[in-house]
Amino acid sequence: MEYRYLGKSGLMVSRLSLGGWVTYGGQVGPEVAQMCMKTAFDLGINFFDTAEVYSNGQCEIDMGVAIRKFGWKRSDLVISTKIFWGGKGPNDRGLSRKHIIEGTDASLKRLQLDYVDLIYAHRPDLDTPMEEIVRAFNHVINQGKAFYWGTSEWTAQQITEAHAVAQRLNLIAPLMEQPQYNMFHRDRVEKEYLPLYKTFGMGSTIWSPLASGLLSGKYNDGIPADSRLAIQDNAVMKRIRDGLETEDGQVKISKVIKLGAMASQLGCTTSQLALAWCLKNPNVSSVITGASKPSQIEENVKSLQVVPLLTEEIMLAIEDILLNKPAA
Ligand code: NDP
Repeated sequence: MEYRYLGKSGLMVSRLSLGGWVTYGGQVGPEVAQMCMKTAFDLGINFFDTAEVYSNGQCEIDMGVAIRKFGWKRSDLVISTKIFWGGKGPNDRGLSRKHIIEGTDASLKRLQLDYVDLIYAHRPDLDTPMEEIVRAFNHVINQGKAFYWGTSEWTAQQITEAHAVAQRLNLIAPLMEQPQYNMFHRDRVEKEYLPLYKTFGMGSTIWSPLASGLLSGKYNDGIPADSRLAIQDNAVMKRIRDGLETEDGQVKISKVIKLGAMASQLGCTTSQLALAWCLKNPNVSSVITGASKPSQIEENVKSLQVVPLLTEEIMLAIEDILLNKPAA
């Protein structure tokens, strides 16, 4: 495994990390979650990501049980959670001081941890003043309940505002973003955030590097019964599933087929090529993967060996397939 500093901080995160969205506490039971996390840890992954909203808290519970079970040294782990959607009550959601502090406490309880390393604002909250948000995350850090705070899917403008507030009040600013980034979703990471990496030393921990599995090639010929998209009672999976039927979805599949041919030529799998492509971006601190089976993690970690194969020529050939490079 390789490790990289998270933005300008002194914290090292594994270049590939593992998250529990959809999967842990939902699609698979605790034993499979434990096997996946152990496989990841044994392969050198130190960074595990969850959120208060994942499977209504069950993801944090199952990941917390795994952390306890294997008796890993706390200093060998970087654990993150995210706050925004904590329940049905009017004060259970958003980024009020109340929900940030209560939500963090509830997450720690579910995880059976004294602190998380990273805490994220899972989305921007336009109804709460930025000063309240920045002060609340600083409070959480000052209480020793998290070491760093960051954002997820905030605009560059919102992140810049948070930095301005932190600077004015001499407080800790957000360190990292958690944006979606994959071969089909590029603009924010490659364009909008570009000034932020340098100006603020912002780190990025990117999500859905396989576009929910689409970039593994597993959906080229339909939806396998044991795959995420086969889950019936999940609105996000339904949207992605329905999306595959559209013209845009079919174009994406035709691109994945071409990427698969390129992967074969390089001697790797389509997933490994897609992950290596994310790893190749120097502004990506860690690629948060997902896995419902330990074998997927074993396969995905080998993407690190594919990065050196992505020469300028190969990267251009990939652009010729994707045809979606953000305009300069
Ligand atoms: P991916 O796009 O990598 O999708 C992961 C899924 O793809 C797996 O669960 C598995 O699904 C399938 N898969 C993985 N590897 C392979 C393989 N080698 N071959 C075939 N299929 C494979 O990542 P996620 O969408 O899971 O996102 C990763 C993490 O990012 C999440 O767990 C979460 O922590 C975070 N995230 C953050 C968000 C945010 O708003 N901040 C939003 C979404 C995710 P299956 O086996 O079911 O087919």
